[in-house]
Amino acid sequence: MATTPGTEIIELETGVFARLHEGLTNAGIIVGDDGVLVIDSLRVPSFGRDLIHDVRHITDKPIRYLVDTHSHWDHAWGNEEFPDATIIGHENCYEEMVDVEWNRQWREKVMSSGDPWSEEAGLVNITPPNLTFETSMRLYIGGREVRLLFLGRAHTGGDTHIYLPDDGIVFCGDVAQDGGMPFLADSYPSEWPATDDRLVDLQAPRFVSGHGPVGEHAALVEARDFIHAMVGSLEAAASAGRSAQDAAAATVAALAPQYGEWRGFERLEEALPEAYGRLG
Ligand SMILES: [Zn+2]
Repeated sequence: MATTPGTEIIELETGVFARLHEGLTNAGIIVGDDGVLVIDSLRVPSFGRDLIHDVRHITDKPIRYLVDTHSHWDHAWGNEEFPDATIIGHENCYEEMVDVEWNRQWREKVMSSGDPWSEEAGLVNITPPNLTFETSMRLYIGGREVRLLFLGRAHTGGDTHIYLPDDGIVFCGDVAQDGGMPFLADSYPSEWPATDDRLVDLQAPRFVSGHGPVGEHAALVEARDFIHAMVGSLEAAASAGRSAQDAAAATVAALAPQYGEWRGFERLEEALPEAYGRLG
């Protein structure tokens, strides 16, 4: 039984797995004594089923919990494939997932992209969390402490960090990547830097992002510094009364020397005007 093509499952600690998907979205798998916690259900139901298939590669224990790192389709539109699990997310993640207009726009975007999953996106039964929290929650999975933390708004309104204090690992969704530009369109740029500071302050030598490789703490610090520099540049442009296009161009010019090689950097200039408009 092979795992899904394009994926790699890495056991970070006994019972703690990162399931990386080349160029797509990562997931996490935490195996306890009598059940499993899965982090993110992925983009459409067939991706959720592939993930469940890969969990079965590791263990036959039931999936008891699914945690949504945030509301984005590529992380949470496989939720309906986990009917027997408790689906946990931040309260704001719930609010976004039941926002009909917001999801209509996302569905349209995904369906018109012409990607292999576009057609299936039209059939997704968007399934929000059925257990939410506001600031933090602890679960004990096979005696392992799993802390769900809301550190403030950042990439979306309801980003959840799944922190394993005894293992020094944090799953951080799309708030930070190792060498990758985050998606900005639903973000809260003015609040993101402080959220990143709290993330960096966790005792987590390793992090698993929603995209890209498993990173070490230095990469988390770099991701934090990138957001600080980007938001700082946008805020300076706003103070100077510059247009969104000028702010974007100046920010790209300021960031390119240090971050120009990052995955997705070429999308930055196009993404920045909207982020500029979202400054608080
Ligand atoms: Zn996202």
